[in-house]
Amino acid sequence: MELKFYNTLTKSKETFKPLKGNEVRMYSCGPTVYKDATIGNMRTNIFQDVLRRVLRYNGYTLKHAMNITDVGHLVSDGDEGEDKMEKSAREEGKQPLEIAEFYTKRFFNDLELLNIETPEIICKATDHIKEMMEFVEGLVERGYAYETSTAIYFDVDKLDEYGVLSGINLRDQKAGARVEVDNEKKNPYDFAVWIKAPENHIMKWDSKWGKCYPGWHIECSAMSRKYLGEVFDIHTGGIDLIPTHHENEIAQSKGLTGKNPARFWMHGEYLLINGGKMSKSLGNVYLLKDIIDKGYNPLAYKLFSYSAHYRNKLNFTWENIESSNKALIKLKEAYQKHLNGEDVLSQEEINQLEERFHEAINDDLNMPLAMSTVWEVARYPKKSKQLAELLLKFDSVMGLKIEEEIKENEVEVPENIKILANQRQTAKQEKNWQLADKIREEIIQAGYTIKDTKEGSIIEKL
Ligand code: AMP
Ligand code: ZN
Repeated sequence: MELKFYNTLTKSKETFKPLKGNEVRMYSCGPTVYKDATIGNMRTNIFQDVLRRVLRYNGYTLKHAMNITDVGHLVSDGDEGEDKMEKSAREEGKQPLEIAEFYTKRFFNDLELLNIETPEIICKATDHIKEMMEFVEGLVERGYAYETSTAIYFDVDKLDEYGVLSGINLRDQKAGARVEVDNEKKNPYDFAVWIKAPENHIMKWDSKWGKCYPGWHIECSAMSRKYLGEVFDIHTGGIDLIPTHHENEIAQSKGLTGKNPARFWMHGEYLLINGGKMSKSLGNVYLLKDIIDKGYNPLAYKLFSYSAHYRNKLNFTWENIESSNKALIKLKEAYQKHLNGEDVLSQEEINQLEERFHEAINDDLNMPLAMSTVWEVARYPKKSKQLAELLLKFDSVMGLKIEEEIKENEVEVPENIKILANQRQTAKQEKNWQLADKIREEIIQAGYTIKDTKEGSIIEKL
C-alpha cells in the first residue's frame, strides 16, 4: 500500500520509499537535558514513535538515531546567552554532566512510561566532539565558515540558497536585520558552529582555535552524518526547530557535502494548554508525572494525543485526560471481550477493517482517522478472537498495551462500592468475619469482585 508523508521541504505530501533497500534511516533531534521534559516535548516524541511504528507496519526496518544535547544549546536558539546546561548546573549547584545524567535518565523513564520505543542509536553530543571538530574544520577549509574573536561562524552568503525549509529570503531579510550581538558577523543569519569558550565555561575542548565548545546545530549534523550517512531518509523534530536549527543543519551539510542531509523533513505541531502556551509564568507547565500523580495511566496521554493529527495543534485539558483514561479502559475491555468471543468473521470482513486502518496511517500518519476504525473494531457487535488479534495488530502502531490487565486505578469503581469495601476492611480489622463476608457478597451482587492482596484489597469489575 502506498505510504505518504508531508514533507516540510516541498510543502506537499509525497510518496515515501527508503533511499536504500528496505531500511529507513531516520534522525530525530533529541532533548537538551538541562530540565525535565514536559508533556509538550512528549507529544513530539509520541509523533516520532508513531512514525517508527508505521514504517515497521509497512514492512521496513529502522535505523533511527536520536541525539542527547548535553552541551552547546544556548539559552536563545540564536547565538546568544549562556549554555543551557551550564546555567542549570550553576543554579542547581552541580556539574553540567551530573545534570545531564540526571535528566537523561528521567527523559528515558518518561519514554518507557509512554511505551515509546528507544531509537536504535542514542548519541550524546559530548561523546562526539571529534566528529564535530572535523566537520567545522571541513567547513572552514571549503570556505563556508570563518573565524571571529568569539566563534567560528557559518557564512550563509556562500550558499546558493539559505532557508529552504521556511522560505527565508536573505535579501529581503537583510534590511530589517536582527539585533546583532557580534558585529564581526558578516551576515545577521550567520550562526556559530564552534564557540570560543569564556574563561569560566566548564565544558570546553582543545582545538586549533583554542578552547572551544560546539554550537548546537553542528552536533546534529555531525552525528547524523556519522551514523546515517551523508543523505538519509527522514529528519524529524518539533515545528519550532524549522526556522533556525533545521535550516542551519541543512546549511552545514550543504557546505560540507553539497547535499541536503535528509530526503524528508517532518515536523510535529505544538501541544497547547487551555488554548495557550505552556509557560512557567502561567504555572501550566505539566510533566508526565503530574498526569500519573492524578491517578491516570500515562498511556491515556498517548491515546489523547491521537485525537489530533500530528501537524495540527492539540489542546490539553484535564477533562480531556479524564475522558482519554476512560476510553483506554474501554479499549482494554473491548479487547478482552473479543478475546473471549466465539463469533467467526469472514476473512473479507477482517481485511476490510485492516485496510481502512492501514490506509489512514499511511496517509501521513492520520491517527484520528485510524482511531475511528479502532473504535469500530472495538465496538463490533460480533465478539471474535479474530478481532482481538486485529486490535493487537493495530496496537503495534498505537502502542497502548491494550492486552495489559486493567489496573486498579483504571477501574471506575462507584462510590457506593468503595464505601462497602471500606466497611468490609473495618469488619475484618475487628475480626467480624461474618459481617465481612456479608459485605463481600453485596459487592459481588453489585457486579464487582474484591481480591485481598498483601498491598490491600483490589476491586475489579466482574
Ligand atoms: P525544548 O525543551 O523546548 O528544547 O524542546 C525539545 C523538543 O520538544 C523540541 O523538538 C520541541 O519542538 C518540542 N516541544 C517543546 N514544546 C512543545 C510543545 N508544547 N508541544 C510539542 N512539542 C514541543
Ligand atoms: Zn537537531
